[in-house]
Amino acid sequence: MTRIVSVDEYKPEVKKRSVRGVPFFIRDDLIDVITDHGDEGLLRDSEIMGLIVGKVYKDDDGEYAIATGVISSELEADETSVRFDQSDMTQLIDEIDELKNGDRIIGWYHSHLGCGCFMSDTDIKTQNGLFGGHIGFAMVIDPVLRQLKVFDSTIDGPQQIQMIVME
Ligand SMILES: [Zn+2]
Repeated sequence: MTRIVSVDEYKPEVKKRSVRGVPFFIRDDLIDVITDHGDEGLLRDSEIMGLIVGKVYKDDDGEYAIATGVISSELEADETSVRFDQSDMTQLIDEIDELKNGDRIIGWYHSHLGCGCFMSDTDIKTQNGLFGGHIGFAMVIDPVLRQLKVFDSTIDGPQQIQMIVME
C-alpha cells in the first residue's frame, strides 16, 4: 500500500514534553472545530473526516506530536454512509498547498454516528495507508454518543492513546 503522507527525511525538534507518557497534545479550540464538524455532519446524517496538522517533537521518551490545526473538506455522502478510503484522503491532501513552519500531517479524524469510537477494518487500512507505521493519530468522534477517542497504530493494530487537551 502506498503511503500518502510523505515521511521524507525529517529531524524532529528536540523538546521535552509537558506531560510524560503522552504522545499527543491538542488545543481545546481544535477539539471544538472537530466536534463542530461532527455535529454539522450529524445534521445531514453524514460521517465527516479531516486531517490534523501539527509538529512532531522528540524527547528522551521518543517522538510525540502537538496539533496546530485541522484541514477538512466536503465529501460526497448519501443518507446512510460515507466511504472513507485512500482516494478521499488523496483528494484532501491535494487541497493542501504547502504546510509552513515545519507543520506536517500528524493525524486524521472522522466521525461515527451512534456506534461508538473504534477503528474499523477500513479505518485501520486508511491509518496504515496514511502513516504506514510512522507517528500518526486517528481521532474518532461520535456526535450522537458525545464520545471522542484517539488511536495510534502499533504492530498489534490500533491502540487507544492518551491525549492532553490544552487551553
Ligand atoms: Zn471509522
